Amino acid sequence: MNECVGRSALLAGPGEAARNPVAYLVCNQSPPIDGAPSLMTFNEVSTLFHEFGHGLQHMLTRVDHGGVAGINGVEWDAVELPSQFMENWLRHKPTLWSFARHFQTGEKLPEATVDRVLDAQKFRAGTGFMRQLYFASLDLALHGLSEVTPEAVERVREDIVARYTIVPPLPEDRFLCQFGHLFAGGYAAGYYSYKWAEVLSADAFGAFEEAGLDDDAAMREVGTRFRDTVLGLGGSVEPMEVFRRFRGREPETEALLRHNGLLPAA
Ligand SMILES: [Zn+2]
Repeated sequence: MNECVGRSALLAGPGEAARNPVAYLVCNQSPPIDGAPSLMTFNEVSTLFHEFGHGLQHMLTRVDHGGVAGINGVEWDAVELPSQFMENWLRHKPTLWSFARHFQTGEKLPEATVDRVLDAQKFRAGTGFMRQLYFASLDLALHGLSEVTPEAVERVREDIVARYTIVPPLPEDRFLCQFGHLFAGGYAAGYYSYKWAEVLSADAFGAFEEAGLDDDAAMREVGTRFRDTVLGLGGSVEPMEVFRRFRGREPETEALLRHNGLLPAA
């Protein structure tokens, strides 16, 4: 289990003094073995960065009202923006090398290994994208049906399959019967938020890339703006407006496609 839990309200209650927000992360990690410290896998580090992003939104809130401070009251499709944003830093080698060192020799993770890990993340990224778009479109189309009959459901499924799958499912495929997200997992008509959160977080990181990841002064400036908008405003301002205040425009997909190797090389 990995999650971030916190109390973000700056004010504890009527008449009470302002308090600092508190967040704590609950994570499963590789345990220490045979006297060696816990040696975390790349995925565990990525999860820690992810949860820390949720923690930052709790801790850096500027909102006094608990219901919309920190992560509270942030709309579903923007709630993973700060967390997925943090995962991007693992693709920045100087950030990775600031801690990814051999626990005995202090030697930094070899660059060839880092490159292999980063390249592996792009493996069949297009197939993964299409699968998520297929699920999200199917979800929206099914919830848009005015009359739900087996025939109507099947027609919708066939239509979406034709648009989003390269290898069509087998005729006996009954995937819909176990698509639990839509009917038991709370994602009804909200499955798209997985991919949308990736668009937001990649585009937010794109602002840092454009400013220059190795330019400390530029990072401080963009980072301060990120803190004052995305991290600070919580659910007190509508998410699209929060994004606009940070990025100066609405979200675009270029950064997400580029990070996944889905744009032609420049
Ligand atoms: Zn999360």
